[in-house]
Amino acid sequence: MNTTAAGFVIAIDQGTTSSRSIVFDHQYAIHSQAQVELEQFFPHSGWVEQDPDEIWQTTLATARQSMHQGNLRADQLCALGISNQRETTIVWNRASGKPVYNAIVWQDRRTAQYCNQRRQDGAQATVTAKTGLLLDAYFSASKIAWILDNVSGARAAAERGELAFGTVDSWLIWNLTAGAVHATDVTNASRTMLYNIHRQGWDSELLELFNVPRSMLPEVLDCNGFFGYTSASLLGGAVKICGVAGDQQAAAMGQACFTKGMLKATYGTGCFALLNTGDTAVESQHQLLTTVAARLDGKISYALEGSIFIAGAAIQWLRDGLRIIQSAEQSTAEALASDPDQAVYLVPAFTGLGAPWWDPEARAAIFGLSLATGRSEIVRAALESVCYQTLDLLKAMHADWQTTSETVLRVDGGMAVNDWTMQFLADVLQAPIDRPVITETSALGAAWLAASHAGLWPTSADFAGAWQCQQRFTPAMTPERRKVKVAGWDAAIGRVRGLA
Ligand code: ADP
Repeated sequence: MNTTAAGFVIAIDQGTTSSRSIVFDHQYAIHSQAQVELEQFFPHSGWVEQDPDEIWQTTLATARQSMHQGNLRADQLCALGISNQRETTIVWNRASGKPVYNAIVWQDRRTAQYCNQRRQDGAQATVTAKTGLLLDAYFSASKIAWILDNVSGARAAAERGELAFGTVDSWLIWNLTAGAVHATDVTNASRTMLYNIHRQGWDSELLELFNVPRSMLPEVLDCNGFFGYTSASLLGGAVKICGVAGDQQAAAMGQACFTKGMLKATYGTGCFALLNTGDTAVESQHQLLTTVAARLDGKISYALEGSIFIAGAAIQWLRDGLRIIQSAEQSTAEALASDPDQAVYLVPAFTGLGAPWWDPEARAAIFGLSLATGRSEIVRAALESVCYQTLDLLKAMHADWQTTSETVLRVDGGMAVNDWTMQFLADVLQAPIDRPVITETSALGAAWLAASHAGLWPTSADFAGAWQCQQRFTPAMTPERRKVKVAGWDAAIGRVRGLA
């Protein structure tokens, strides 16, 4: 490999709130990057949409900008990787390349009733057995059905084979290759609710259940497979697309969680934790999701996944809703100033509770207020709530799947910069917390997939060896105090669920 001629890899990180591109050099370091915000539309209560053309144009713009900033030509990029917001659904016309409707974003709840109906019909067990998912509006299948049933002429066109469905990765690959390739990777496929994660193929029974024509579906490839070349006119030359994964799986790879028992949690708006369970697809008894962690060179690995809806969003609410802090950073100073003896609990069930409770009716509450309680105690309770929720997830994971290896949690995302919270997390989990030097883990994971295919970053062992811990937080709280604090949280959660 001649690294001077083609010693860089470009990672596209297409997220819910922004499109980004990051160029990494051959030593895994960030060379240049660009980011553009993405508009979200809320046409009705519970609906969330994006413009597919804007998703594509912002992505292309950031790719060009990151190359320009890094002073790079296309022939210096040996590979392109993609990490993307998962489940978001796009349907387009194969001939014109035009979307037939806006992208329906993963958060969109318009098909909740439709999914309830399917559950009442008894479809949950089949769906879970085949896909590892819960029958929920969150995943792509019911969103595709909605488009086919509500966009004039769409179902007939789909049945004639004229329409294509894709998650955001497929849509980007289609556009990057000027319509030559309609493909996805196995991690994205595993979030559609149409893909059998055990047999590893689109499932006829599920396609029938959701009434989706097979002709719409992309080809499913390995995460480090060869997807095609970018159309030469886009980036000033053809670049090989050879790494694709959904954002949370990409983040787990960026955290080098390659082996069984390794665990990462990403703390952004919400929190997503993934536990690598190796070649075993563990069926959860605690409402966690079973999902594909990766398929590399034909070898599949699985993960247990838990999602918390509100993590950093609780801090945003303190800032923008309650207006008791000016910035997210101020939360640290408030927590430090708070009275540690006040047992104040904030259960941030603003949009219901995610894993392991899946209680859509629960609503947020603050408990334990006294006349001595002030802003600082409430802010601290919000930060603590993220840690207690992680504890509940990890308890569920360990109940579903026993491992003998010591739990170390690798963290990333906007909230992971908060030292106070990471220390409290270590205290509550009674486990070490490792924060890496590069916290852009989704982009790094996509870059790793592509660069390993291209031979720039050859092995997962080398990559894992190069993963660097920026700071480790180790448990410091006494077991007695922890026990009391956790018992208080358990009671608070019980009362919020009781409220529903
Ligand atoms: P997303 O990718 O979901 O948009 P990010 O990973 O960019 O989220 O993280 C943003 C979130 O992190 C926000 O909800 C914000 O409140 C939270 N956050 C950022 N900095 C801090 C901080 N210092 N302390 C606590 N929370 C923070």
